[in-house]
Amino acid sequence: MKIRKGMIIIVSAPSGAGKTSIADAVIKNDKNIVYSISTTTRAPRKGERNGREYFFVDDKTFKTMIKQKKFAEWAQVHGHYYGTSKKSLEGTINKGKDILLDIDVQGALKIKKQYKSAVMIFIMTPSLKILKERLIKRNKDSMETIKIRMANAKKELSYMDKYDYLVLNDKLETSIKNVESVICAERLSVKKIKNNIKF
Ligand code: 5GP
Repeated sequence: MKIRKGMIIIVSAPSGAGKTSIADAVIKNDKNIVYSISTTTRAPRKGERNGREYFFVDDKTFKTMIKQKKFAEWAQVHGHYYGTSKKSLEGTINKGKDILLDIDVQGALKIKKQYKSAVMIFIMTPSLKILKERLIKRNKDSMETIKIRMANAKKELSYMDKYDYLVLNDKLETSIKNVESVICAERLSVKKIKNNIKF
């Protein structure tokens, strides 16, 4: 039997919907899934390490990388550049490993256009009211930033119907299981494996 090519799993969510906690758990529980480390021009936050959460570069370096076609996709999000390395993405799936991309809606659509079998999962809180409450409760942002994040969330929600799956993050444990179930089902999809399996 031929090894199957790895699967591209895209996870997008408005800020505060709990995407990072879900993605971290899914990766921790499944050794066949690799996290795609993006490159960004935003400054590292407290506790972030270069090469772990992101590769942090300046604007000039990022623009050079665009010219050199190093990105499978890139986008400007909240005023900063973010991009997915083409080499790392293709290297991972060619080894038969799945790769999880935590990227915004613009990037998700760009990836889907090039890699038709990518699975797109949208994560959202059960309501916008709950999203706002979570943003206030986590105490990371000013009211001004929360307003911007809420306006962005409404914009991002308008892309939801382009996604394959919606996970409403009410209880974290359930949402982790739901994302894992989607991945499990996609791995078994005959449509997806038919080109990779020879008996
Ligand atoms: P943060 O700066 O809070 O880590 O991420 C901000 C937003 O940028 C999130 O929505 C995240 O999913 C998105 N993002 C992170 N990496 C990439 C990337 O490589 N490409 C795109 N298009 N978006 C990204």
